Amino acid sequence: MIVIFKNNTPNEAIEELSCAVESMGVQVNKVVGSDATILGLVGDTSNIDMKKIEADDNVERVMRVSEPYKKANRKFHPDSTVVKVGDTSIGGKEIALIAGPCSVESREQITDVAKAIKASGATMLRGGAFKPRTSPYAFQGLKYEGLDLLKEAKAATGLPIVTELMSPYDLDRFVQDVDVIQIGARNMQNFELLKQLGKIDKPILLKRGLSATIEEWLMSAEYILSGGNGNVILCERGVRTFETYTRNTLDLSAIVAVKQVSHLPVIVDPSHATGKAWMVPALARAAIAVGADGLIIEVHNDPIHALCDGNQSIKPEQFDAVVKDLRNIAPVVGRSIR
Ligand code: PEP
Ligand code: MN
Repeated sequence: MIVIFKNNTPNEAIEELSCAVESMGVQVNKVVGSDATILGLVGDTSNIDMKKIEADDNVERVMRVSEPYKKANRKFHPDSTVVKVGDTSIGGKEIALIAGPCSVESREQITDVAKAIKASGATMLRGGAFKPRTSPYAFQGLKYEGLDLLKEAKAATGLPIVTELMSPYDLDRFVQDVDVIQIGARNMQNFELLKQLGKIDKPILLKRGLSATIEEWLMSAEYILSGGNGNVILCERGVRTFETYTRNTLDLSAIVAVKQVSHLPVIVDPSHATGKAWMVPALARAAIAVGADGLIIEVHNDPIHALCDGNQSIKPEQFDAVVKDLRNIAPVVGRSIR
């Protein structure tokens, strides 16, 4: 349930109603928006008399929220959330451009790619240190050494780092070393991991699960938000369908839907969505055109010899060309590129 106050309602009146509702065993989430102040009530609201609250002179409107996601719901939080990462952010006017290799492979590789993408306009560096591989015999990542190399690349370029966390055991290390913690598609419904992420305030990049519905994806975000961490960024990376030509099917309509029903920023990963490097530029352009807040793109300096996902990795010069195209597209949809 949400309670929307009239403009200029005194703070005391809002606090008074808030305490009254809280004493009925309901959690109250106060959001001061650009248009109005809203109380979002989470929990069992069946005993709350809507008419009684509506009778309050300061109250503009009371609404029941039928969707199971509450804190991720735009009704609870009408203004779009902007997640700050260092001196950059995701969800504001500026498009976030995250790029880098699937996996960190060596000092030269990660630092060279970081310098190249930075020169093109990337705002953050990606690179997997811990890799979720289908085969236990495939390269599993450089692990802690990979984190150290990411830190070196950050020191050389100033780019914040985005990397995937797979186990709650490594959480403290990630909180220390990483700017954005990526939760991969395979862990989207690892609820114990999500609960741990709710206890920190580090930005979380939550990828959509392999076959997750939009509602399931938002409910996973709700786990993090309900724990107290409001810094959640969603990432559409394609879903599994009957189609086998592409690695996954990029669900562009999910961007439009999520921007409508949620206030959380949403970015697109055209690399894992297609599995084909030559398709990445076109879908990157499409993602920005439909309203995505940013992109996460796999870029490798030697894709043929990449230890992971070489087929879908573009070269730094191709990334540069994508960013040039986006500089033309972004203003058309009211956005900008750094
Ligand atoms: C990745 O970003 O390297 C990755 C493994 O992505 P996903 O979880 O979307 O498959
Ligand atoms: Mn990958």
